[in-house]
Amino acid sequence: MERKNAWLSYDKKQKKELTALCENYRKFLSAGKTERECVELAVAEAEKAGYISLEAAVAAGRKLQPGDKVYATIMGKSMALFTIGTEPLEKGMNILGAHIDSPRLDLKQNPLYEDTDQVLLDTHYYGGIKKYQWVALPLALHGVVAKKDGSVVKVCIGEDPKDPVVGITDLLPHLAASQMSKPAGKIVEGEDLNVLIGSEKVVEEKAKKPGDDPKASVMKNIKAILKDKYGIEEEDFISAEIEVVPAGPARDFGLDRSMILGYGHDDRICAYTSLVAMLNVPAPKRTSCCLLVDKEEIGSVGATGMQSLFFENTVAEILALCGETSGLAVRRAIANSRMLSSDVSAAFDPNYPGVNEKKNTAYFGRGLVFNKYTGSRGKGGSNDCSAEYMAYVRRVMDDAGVFWQTAELGKVDEGGGGTIAYIAGNYGMNVVDAGIAVLSMHSPWDLASKADIFEAVKGYEAFLKAE
Ligand code: MN
Ligand code: MN
Repeated sequence: MERKNAWLSYDKKQKKELTALCENYRKFLSAGKTERECVELAVAEAEKAGYISLEAAVAAGRKLQPGDKVYATIMGKSMALFTIGTEPLEKGMNILGAHIDSPRLDLKQNPLYEDTDQVLLDTHYYGGIKKYQWVALPLALHGVVAKKDGSVVKVCIGEDPKDPVVGITDLLPHLAASQMSKPAGKIVEGEDLNVLIGSEKVVEEKAKKPGDDPKASVMKNIKAILKDKYGIEEEDFISAEIEVVPAGPARDFGLDRSMILGYGHDDRICAYTSLVAMLNVPAPKRTSCCLLVDKEEIGSVGATGMQSLFFENTVAEILALCGETSGLAVRRAIANSRMLSSDVSAAFDPNYPGVNEKKNTAYFGRGLVFNKYTGSRGKGGSNDCSAEYMAYVRRVMDDAGVFWQTAELGKVDEGGGGTIAYIAGNYGMNVVDAGIAVLSMHSPWDLASKADIFEAVKGYEAFLKAE
């Protein structure tokens, strides 16, 4: 059984809509390269669409009515949006959940050093990366520096065309005989992912007597730049979160412009399409919820990851504003919910056909991808949603005319992976993985099909509207 290609179905009007949606996504992806930046962009979009902050709603003692729109954030890195439905919240929500953290390099707490007339920043990589992919390409620095006085300085260097970029050097082929004989995982070691940021030597102290060399360093100038331009002292790195990411905007890809090349499609492509669907659906019967969470790439841990109580606490607050304060109501509201865990799938790659089993693989252009289960080595760690729920989503998608397909992540025992689905599943709710297929996943520049982005928004909207 083969699923149909969505491109064949579009008329002129739909292609125009598709192009407009994808252009907005391209801009979002270019501007949102960290979880914090994505939350900021999403909050701005939500407020434009009439969402108010939960904090403000609680402070005002506001009673929530059907059609009301509320959002909550935690530490600026995770976010939950709600549109109150006409049915009591206890009956459950329709939830879209995606993650907004992506694989990258994080600066260490004590990153700055000078070695042989170069100043570098030491990093610790975040998430699953092929380390050799992060050398010899322009990189940017995004993040925040929190200072002792309570102020927080935003950093974004390398995105404005007038900005300098930074990067990690690689060995020339002429001298790489020993490097090239190593296994790929060892060609570039994690500890060697050091970002070069300066090389101009300046005088620190004049020579004591004529004929002597002056005391000089590259560091002095770099520290002065950090201080003058950003107000950062070296010690401030201790309380900073600076992420080293590929520099430059996402681009249209392919001569036919049918794809988008960008950094961090995993999982901002599902986050953005979920957010768009959320903002497009006005007053549903069942309360809509959209979760944009952090830390998925390192196990959904910590206060801003899906395993935290943020979601549960926020639902409790929302219920309270709806006039329901019992703990049982919170449990019911969550357990009776249905969720699409929106995360990317691996698209079939004709360059590497061997890792997939063709009948159970995602393809570019065939729409939203449903993974009944993920996991590895015998479905280990997978959510494995029920057949009944799979039948339900089939019906919802087909009734709305959405192009969709099913897939596994690779052939049996080839590898595998997980998402936030099993964490939501722990509450006893129905949840299935539903996302967009990407190529070159977890690389500095991954690829997605515009048709799949278009179909995802349609699918997510249909899911939110479903009664
Ligand atoms: Mn993901
Ligand atoms: Mn991932």
